[in-house]
Amino acid sequence: MSDHRKPLPPILAAALEIKDEIVSLRRTIHQNPELGKQEFQTSKLVEAYLQSLNLETRHVAGTGIVGLLRGARPGKTVAFRADMDALPIQEMNPVSYRSKNPGIMHACGHDAHTAALLGAAKLLAARREALSGNVKFFFQPNEEQEGGAKDMIQAGCMEDPKVDAVFGCHVAPDLPAGKIAVSYGICYAASNPFLVEIHGKASHGAEPHLGIDAIVAGAHIVAALQTLVSRTLDPVEPAVVTVGSFHGGTCMNVIADAVRLEGMIRTLEPATRERLKEKFRETVQGIGSAMGAKIDIRIDEGFPAMITDPAMTDSLKAVAGTILGQENVLVSKHPTMGTEDFAYFLQKAPGTFFQLGAGDPLNSFERPLHNGYFDVDEHALPLAAAIHAQTALDFLSS
Ligand SMILES: [Zn+2]
Ligand SMILES: [Zn+2]
Repeated sequence: MSDHRKPLPPILAAALEIKDEIVSLRRTIHQNPELGKQEFQTSKLVEAYLQSLNLETRHVAGTGIVGLLRGARPGKTVAFRADMDALPIQEMNPVSYRSKNPGIMHACGHDAHTAALLGAAKLLAARREALSGNVKFFFQPNEEQEGGAKDMIQAGCMEDPKVDAVFGCHVAPDLPAGKIAVSYGICYAASNPFLVEIHGKASHGAEPHLGIDAIVAGAHIVAALQTLVSRTLDPVEPAVVTVGSFHGGTCMNVIADAVRLEGMIRTLEPATRERLKEKFRETVQGIGSAMGAKIDIRIDEGFPAMITDPAMTDSLKAVAGTILGQENVLVSKHPTMGTEDFAYFLQKAPGTFFQLGAGDPLNSFERPLHNGYFDVDEHALPLAAAIHAQTALDFLSS
């Protein structure tokens, strides 16, 4: 009797052999989450693991680590990135590997990204003799806040040896383990965080005519900002303007003299980004002067939009297809208005980014990213390690 089951691709078989080790790394990191720029223990664990594989390691951008695997022969250099930071969220999961740090949790799956990339490093280190070229492993701090990607690039992670292609992924709770989704073109939004300070004039609550009410001005500004997207942009052009914080006033019988608004503008196209910033200033200043308030506006340049390279996305899609089955490699139809600082790496070298299915489809809406009940399906970890490793092998032999 013959066995009709297809043999597993060798890299997948090897990844499944070290699944327990990858899962254990993930659980150790999950239990010891650290906020952005404070990933000291995580960074130490990563460095020690890479050194145990005889990789060269370098500290960059504070807690960041770059691992370098030099192949037996010279060639191109391919890089992979995992982010390491956790969030200021209390873990609610009653699991054995629950966070030991009160109020801090890996609620965005960066523990999974880090563990899967360490697994890929192990798979590739074992194949060093077959490699022509180098593989770099970027373990990045502070993705959730200002974006550690920029700091790593400034610290030279894309040079010496120069990176020819760069890849990354993020866990997706709405996609089951065993599936991934790739994206062509713009897949994450550009962001512009803003701060608006409204300066009015305090007076007795019974004498509003003697003051300038910063709260009323602020309320008009928030309402007017809702028309920026709906009335200044083409309806088929995606953008979001969110006021996420509104603070002002001191007590019930005083006309407030100051209000602070903070929020974010998210866009996909550069022209839309510029137009919205301009209309934002015009609208806020216009309402301020109509109400007699003095306005200070600060609009920062946040992350750029993420744009994947079509040829790199094609090859990732093909590699993942050999590991997961082509039917399990989806193509995202729409970009997200979320942001991802991996966009900075893609400004420096061609590459791509994929969504790693890691959710239980029955539970995903109960356990979204950045939620105290978030968790990942650990079956996804060796799959990600295998996809990274095979991507490196194929890229370096192309
Ligand atoms: Zn996040
Ligand atoms: Zn994340």
